Amino acid sequence: MEQKETRICNGCGKTVELPFGEGLSVEKTWGYFSGKDGERHSFFLCEDCYDRITAAFAVPVKIREVTELL
Ligand SMILES: [Zn+2]
Repeated sequence: MEQKETRICNGCGKTVELPFGEGLSVEKTWGYFSGKDGERHSFFLCEDCYDRITAAFAVPVKIREVTELL
């Protein structure tokens, strides 16, 4: 039985089906010196939201060509 994994984009609420839908999955456990001591935050962004959010960065995302893509 094949089970599709889906993620909901935190940015726009869109459902992304994995593994074919691309997106950014972030998980961060905040440490002692942050204001969120011991909290684990996670979110998922679809490619559109990733593009929108990274376009607002003061310093652009570092991009490198990867040749060994599967
Ligand atoms: Zn989105």
